[in-house]
Amino acid sequence: MRLFVGIVPPLEVVEHLAEFVEPRRSHPDEDLRWAAEDTWHITLAFLGEVPDYKTDDLAEGLEVIAKRQKPIDLRLRGAGAFPGVPNARVVYTGVQDPEDRLAHLASITRGAVNKAGVQVDGRKFTPHVTLARLSRPVDVLRYVRVLDTYEGPEWTASSFELISSRLGEGPSHGAAYDTVGEWEFSGPT
Ligand code: ATP
Ligand code: MG
Repeated sequence: MRLFVGIVPPLEVVEHLAEFVEPRRSHPDEDLRWAAEDTWHITLAFLGEVPDYKTDDLAEGLEVIAKRQKPIDLRLRGAGAFPGVPNARVVYTGVQDPEDRLAHLASITRGAVNKAGVQVDGRKFTPHVTLARLSRPVDVLRYVRVLDTYEGPEWTASSFELISSRLGEGPSHGAAYDTVGEWEFSGPT
């Protein structure tokens, strides 16, 4: 199974962003593949292909982490592109994290994943929600400029999820995601 650990924003947050994105999304651009809104998420750790026998250890490790976390206040805001502007492959909206909790959470989550015998991608953590993918590197400045004015409603993230990704099986040949496990942040507040 191809797996990642992520935070999924609640429906009202997704709907707010969807309304903002809609005018751009409905504008045809053959280079841009917009992500379906029910796939929007913040990746904390990307595991890649994981053999099934390791999922129990993974789940145990993730449970321990979640039990020590209190819920996290977040807001989706601004925009950017990976690897950069111009010539991006991904356009995303940023994550405001006023208590500066996510980088640490991502780090200990990756630690727990490693401890379960699974390699994680060591790329620098930049919290984001992918909005669009590009079939070839194109200049996305005009998209980033508009999307950068976005400011979503604040919400309190109360869990993270282990999500499986089946490439090419989702809408518009994107990935299909399924939640394999979800753990509440039930630490002391
Ligand atoms: P597609 O690859 O078809 O565009 P996708 O990127 O949504 O679809 P995955 O490649 O399975 O699906 O990625 C799942 C999540 O993990 C996404 O948020 C993606 O940005 C992130 N991700 C994928 N590869 C890496 C990586 N090497 N390092 C960090 N995060 C990654
Ligand atoms: Mg991918």
